[in-house]
Amino acid sequence: MNVNYFQNYLETLHQSYANLDKGEVASYIPELLKADPQWFGIALITVDGHVYQVGDSRQPFTIQSISKAITYGIALEDNGVEAVLQKVDVEPSGEAFNSISLEPDTGRPRNPMINAGAIATVALINGESADDKLKRMLKCYERYLGRSVTIDEDVYRSEKSTGHRNRAIAYLLRNSDIIEKDTDDVLDVYFKQCSILVTCRDLALIGATLANNGVNPITGVRVLASHYVPKVLSVMSSCGMYDYSGAWVYEVGMPAKSGVGGGIVAVLPGQFGLAVFSPKLDERGNSARGIAACKKISSDFGLHMFRTGRSTTSSVIHASYDAAHVPSKRTRNVEQGRLIAELGHKVMVLELHGELMFTSAEIVIHEAMVAAKKAEYLIIDFTRAAYISEGADSMIAGLIQSLSEHGKTILLTGTWGKYETIKLIKKRIGYTDDMPLLNYDAIDDALEWCEDQLLAGQASYTAAEAPLVAQNFLIEFTAEEMEVFESMLEHRSYDEGAYLCREGDPGDLLYFLLSGQVSVIVPLSHRRSRRITSLSAGSAFGEIAMLDRGKRSADIVADDNVTCLVLDYKQLEEQSSPLAMCIRWKLATNIGRDLARKLRKATLEIKSLRS
Ligand code: GLN
Repeated sequence: MNVNYFQNYLETLHQSYANLDKGEVASYIPELLKADPQWFGIALITVDGHVYQVGDSRQPFTIQSISKAITYGIALEDNGVEAVLQKVDVEPSGEAFNSISLEPDTGRPRNPMINAGAIATVALINGESADDKLKRMLKCYERYLGRSVTIDEDVYRSEKSTGHRNRAIAYLLRNSDIIEKDTDDVLDVYFKQCSILVTCRDLALIGATLANNGVNPITGVRVLASHYVPKVLSVMSSCGMYDYSGAWVYEVGMPAKSGVGGGIVAVLPGQFGLAVFSPKLDERGNSARGIAACKKISSDFGLHMFRTGRSTTSSVIHASYDAAHVPSKRTRNVEQGRLIAELGHKVMVLELHGELMFTSAEIVIHEAMVAAKKAEYLIIDFTRAAYISEGADSMIAGLIQSLSEHGKTILLTGTWGKYETIKLIKKRIGYTDDMPLLNYDAIDDALEWCEDQLLAGQASYTAAEAPLVAQNFLIEFTAEEMEVFESMLEHRSYDEGAYLCREGDPGDLLYFLLSGQVSVIVPLSHRRSRRITSLSAGSAFGEIAMLDRGKRSADIVADDNVTCLVLDYKQLEEQSSPLAMCIRWKLATNIGRDLARKLRKATLEIKSLRS
């Protein structure tokens, strides 16, 4: 028993439509008559690369007219839209696939999905010889299917020996210079492209690749430039089912292409490719079971492409907060902490998620404008933004530009892997390397940078060095206690890059930083690591292990030359003089207070992130 709901659904559907016995196997290409009329397969592949298949989904058959969509993509990449349009129009002909539907004055075929248009499209493929063209075509199939393909030689010969009508069409095209070279070569490639062997699963993968903006979702290989994908899908949706195209879009609502071999591939952009294979064709040359099954799946799941989702603020903005509520993880002294609580509202973070298209980008603009009323710094985080459309990126670039003109500073974080978008934004805003705003790895780095800007305007912030008395943990120490305490400390200095301690080390030392800065780094798998925070002069660390007698939970690395005083607290514990007892009590109290403050801050932060 299969537990996957959709797999079960397909199996049931397959069972019930296997009884549908309408139509005839194509006979005008004699070899096609050899197909078993009972063959019936269904496959669906999502843009995540999840594969569902039932029945004869692994049975090879010839691709026939479905190849026209693929060839059209190659022709677009080889020549560009304008040059292709000069030779082949994109108007539905409303006529049969083998109609001689040419523009009266120019002889231009109506569209690339009927034979006339497809033959003209083959002529547009780059390559010196017929062989070159075919090789390039087969390479393209390799990228669509993640495997090499072969041609059914028998079907090819059968097509070639009976394809007089296609030959006539080719001559007409030659006559009006739509085809500028030898028609035999072009026809030969055309017959061969129709005879490429595929399975139903293969067709679903072709569909899924188109649904996935031209990238094969299983291999990750780009097959078609993303800006040509809508062009191919357009002709599929207006002309892909021949003289049934209008009713097909009306009822099923997906760009699709059929072939007389019995295959149909349908594409729901952004979601999946669906293929059905069954050789019996209706009077228009479309697989009868194929049409029935696609109609049923579409209506059962509401898949019509014009039934779309809706972007709302909550579907685009994952979280928004300011640095007063969610400050950076940087350890600050008490005064700096107070200043950030007071001024932090000037730094706003907007965490985006999901797909950024026109409407969702509009929401980002709206929210950013509201945030910018109070804030001077705006951090826009893309970590969870799965996809940024062309268009959404220029809207965001426009936003950055206009906010910058109003004196606001915008920082973009989590842009890893979104190079195209970043490139465009940089270009649009005239980015130069001295501008601080782009490509922060994590929100925390950007937050810290913004806080530093806020603090830089304040007098209390310049702590390259800090005397021991400035330490939080030593508040309310008397001069005498301070003197005794200091005598227990050991002075240490570290060069830039040196480790003060490592994860797993025994934690019996408490460090007071006098000058320089250190970073707290946790090692991750695969030799990667993450910086948790940085501490500068006036801060101390090691208190957690001191309290729970545990081991170090992170590496501590010197960011520059560092000097510090180090307490071995076992030594402090061994002393029993009243003064030493008093020092211990005060130290523990101060550390306790510090932890309480951190805990409150964390609670506030969690509250802000959840609202
Ligand atoms: N090879 C076939 C032909 O040219 C393709 C037609 C089709 O699949 N509709 O007739």
